[in-house]
Amino acid sequence: MHDAQATSHAIASGKVASIAFTLTNQAGETVGEVTVDEPVEYLHGQGNIVAGLEKALEGRLAGEELEVLVSPKDGYGEADPAKVQVVERSEFPPDMELEVGMQFGAEDEDGEEVVIWVTAIEGQRVTVSGNHPLAGETLNYRVKVLAVRAATRDELTHGHVHGPHGHHH
Ligand code: ZN
Repeated sequence: MHDAQATSHAIASGKVASIAFTLTNQAGETVGEVTVDEPVEYLHGQGNIVAGLEKALEGRLAGEELEVLVSPKDGYGEADPAKVQVVERSEFPPDMELEVGMQFGAEDEDGEEVVIWVTAIEGQRVTVSGNHPLAGETLNYRVKVLAVRAATRDELTHGHVHGPHGHHH
């Protein structure tokens, strides 16, 4: 049981939490890391982080450490083969240096902004995917909550964090 004082410092909608984590995939490879020296701050309850992680952090206090397993459904979604296509190298600007793992913004057929990742390059054939590289993965987060504070009015209005570790306009 938390006392009233502690509960007011718990992560909840409208609070900004500062977290550090190590993210591993199903194969046990580290695919993401945020250290305690350079933590990320996020505004809770706005879907600014992966849904499964956000849910697990609800009610947590500064100093707590937890391990969270996130299914693809609550993570980056299932990989959709329809979002993978092979395009000619010549469809990219000639001076654009392509490498596997790079991402860029594009517009889909509805004019929506989407993020595309380069997943393979074979000669003049470039494979691109609209699936997040971690789509289809069960994610394992080892998270430490470093601080919890109330969001500012601007942050609440904008739906994201402002400040040194947050969003910049
Ligand atoms: Zn803003």
